[in-house]
Amino acid sequence: MNESTPDRYGVVGFPVHHSRSPLIHRLFAQQTAQHLTYELIEAEPGEFEVAVRGFGAAGGRGLNVTVPHKEAAFELAKDLGSEAREAGAVNTLTFKAGRLRGDNTDGIGFLRDLTQNLGRAVEGRRVLILGAGGAARGIIPPLLGGGVGRLVLANRTIERAEQVREQFRSLGAIDIARFDELAGEPAFDVVINATSAGLRGERPPFPGDIVGPDSFCYDLAYSRGDTPFVAWASEHGAGEAVQGWGMLVEQAAESFYIWRGVRPDTAPVIRELIDGRGGAR
Ligand code: NAP
Repeated sequence: MNESTPDRYGVVGFPVHHSRSPLIHRLFAQQTAQHLTYELIEAEPGEFEVAVRGFGAAGGRGLNVTVPHKEAAFELAKDLGSEAREAGAVNTLTFKAGRLRGDNTDGIGFLRDLTQNLGRAVEGRRVLILGAGGAARGIIPPLLGGGVGRLVLANRTIERAEQVREQFRSLGAIDIARFDELAGEPAFDVVINATSAGLRGERPPFPGDIVGPDSFCYDLAYSRGDTPFVAWASEHGAGEAVQGWGMLVEQAAESFYIWRGVRPDTAPVIRELIDGRGGAR
């Protein structure tokens, strides 16, 4: 048995009590025989910096960062990984020799789930992203890097989509639209929901034309039952629609690798989370 003090990690967000990250990292640690703890840290926006610095000062080794702190974490980190720099957002903080490093593993996690776990190609495909917030910014670089045929970014607030297009101009072309402007477009090959629309009970505000029998729909959100977007996509005849459990586990695995230098096997962990909600992806 390992008698030494375990290394401390955690996730900081608001709210954060619902997070599955402690379970995921506990399963990774068991699987790879790493001696660590992983805790939930709830911090309101005004408390974020104090919470992070306090955790580091108490010997903490790393933190995942979730809604609404990813941009604040980007501002706080002294050293940045290339994905974090591109996305302008940080979801993984590492305390090392008195310096704070920021990485973003959301994009890698998304692409691994989509292409490796689910076997979906993006090269040459017509891809639609709904939403232009932090999560959308994380997944755009790997999609453009993966050679999408056409990338359309639609958002409720068009100015935000314009800003994102400008931010990524050097990486590739992005067409932008309001949701209603998508009506009449041929169905997309891949439709990704990166909005939080529908999570408060309202119907997702997208025209039904964007999905068809050959469309693959990926919801970054996840829940115990169907998410509103998955239910909406099925109702509108999408070929397949899945929730973001795989991305959640893959982005966590990449954070774990950054911190511990060991790559956990994600498949049994994804299976355990999906079994926990009754079996279907
Ligand atoms: P965010 O930065 O707050 O962005 C929210 C986005 O949703 C914005 O584009 C916003 O549009 C849009 N939106 C919110 N309410 C809407 C409504 N009623 N109608 C239409 N659009 C609406 O959030 P985020 O960090 O990008 O996260 C987005 C989603 O991805 C969340 O559900 C989050 O849980 C999920 N996520 C999952 C993973 C994973 O590992 N599976 C990782 C990261 C994020 P406006 O610009 O018009 O406000």
